[in-house]
Amino acid sequence: MADVVVIGAGPAGIFASMELVKTSPGIDLVMVEQGSDIDTRGRTGRDMLVGWGGAGAYSDGKLTVSTDVGGQLSAIMPEDDLLDLLTYVDGIYERRSPGSALFAMDPEEVASMAAKARLAGLVFVPARVRHLGTEHLRTILEVFRRELEGKARMLFGVRAAEILADKGRVTGVRLEDSSVIPARYVIAAPGRVGSAWMRQQAHRLGLESRPNPVDVGVRVELPAVVLEPLTSRAYETKFVHFSRTFDDKVRTFCMNPYGEVVIETVGDLVTVNGHSWATKRTENTNFALLVSANFTEPFDDPIGYGESVARLANMLGKGVIVQRLGDLTGGRRTTPGRLQKCTTRPTLKQATPGDLSFCLPYRILTDIVEMIEGLDRIAPGVNSAHTLLYGIEVKFYSNRITLDGELMTQIEGLYAVGDGAGITRGLIQASCSGIVAARSIASRMG
Ligand SMILES: Cc1cc2nc3c(=O)[nH]c(=O)nc-3n(C[C@H](O)[C@H](O)[C@H](O)COP(=O)(O)OP(=O)(O)OC[C@H]3O[C@@H](n4cnc5c(N)ncnc54)[C@H](O)[C@@H]3O)c2cc1C
Repeated sequence: MADVVVIGAGPAGIFASMELVKTSPGIDLVMVEQGSDIDTRGRTGRDMLVGWGGAGAYSDGKLTVSTDVGGQLSAIMPEDDLLDLLTYVDGIYERRSPGSALFAMDPEEVASMAAKARLAGLVFVPARVRHLGTEHLRTILEVFRRELEGKARMLFGVRAAEILADKGRVTGVRLEDSSVIPARYVIAAPGRVGSAWMRQQAHRLGLESRPNPVDVGVRVELPAVVLEPLTSRAYETKFVHFSRTFDDKVRTFCMNPYGEVVIETVGDLVTVNGHSWATKRTENTNFALLVSANFTEPFDDPIGYGESVARLANMLGKGVIVQRLGDLTGGRRTTPGRLQKCTTRPTLKQATPGDLSFCLPYRILTDIVEMIEGLDRIAPGVNSAHTLLYGIEVKFYSNRITLDGELMTQIEGLYAVGDGAGITRGLIQASCSGIVAARSIASRMG
């Protein structure tokens, strides 16, 4: 009988485990991870998202210290408690990566940016951002791994098949090979990659859950100098726009100054993403523009919708499509010849020059173009014919499981945390959620 089984070794599972061994020395803790350990984990295909460190292992490592960004933990705890927790977690990352850059605007800068944004029809969302950088994040994950060595039993390459419960109380976990780990507590932290599995378990166990919206859009790439006045002060500037035509919410997301655009593979889907290194630079900055697609009855499959849009781009472009903004608004395809003439040199070479208007619904395309016009009033040059748009960028979120204030499900002793529970969307809130569950278990175990 283990005290606790943690399913998934992404940030949520790692932080839950680190907090448990700290608060309950001698605890019998088992971590079950379907991917590889950090030293054998590759950087291609499925390895990109699974293994020690989870989806974030090769990410940009941007920690957004804000209660409004990267998750919905503010719905389950008071704002001030969440801010304390975010600061605590930021400190843990920072101590393992001394010297990482922290970007924070002073109050006058925030007020001036908010006023400028308002004039442009945008809302500015100020946030403190720590940029770890892709290469440093891996080192930090290695440190976390060493710190847990000998304090938790770790099973790699092993998939949890079923969460077991009896009379409303969790009893353990059945693994893929049918062996069972009986346990007093289980923390499910399967991430977005495990969202289908989590949905299945919720259904089997009779847990309530509801779909989260899907975010669909494009990745924008432009010369870094265009956004330099913003990124030099805030690293990532977040803006929200409610589009004129559809009143939809459009937002900037995951800004990577001097970074590169990359391909992301989700199952058989090829989508686009971006990141930046701490120690090397490209000449471009990239960021996503995403539209939240909310649906009403009878449709309740936002993930299926997002997949269909991405599939269209994959069908037409044999992967990711890239288009010059001038070609999109001029109603023509970007051809290899036109791309050659583009003054923004693409950092993603494998994208096919094409026409995004064949894949993105009119509504989403209109929202994106209107947002670009607004951004251009804050940073002239965004709405240039030579700005590149890559598609499709899509963010799937797991179903949101019904949880109490300690992130326990309706099954006693079963916790669901991180992106897989649909409660977070980023490294720092996922890490925080693991700590919330760990503290709850520690206090129950006495
Ligand atoms: C390319 C990319 C860039 C990103 N950049 C940033 C960024 O800069 N800043 C930011 O805040 N966020 C970023 N994110 C998001 C961030 O990585 C996630 O929000 C975070 O990793 C979620 O943590 P998690 O622990 O909930 O899940 P994950 O990190 O997804 O980890 C879940 C783990 O559970 C394992 N698992 C799943 N099911 C099972 C099972 N049945 N049995 C055993 N193991 C299982 C998986 O293999 C995986 O390792 C990025 C994501 C990607 C993909």
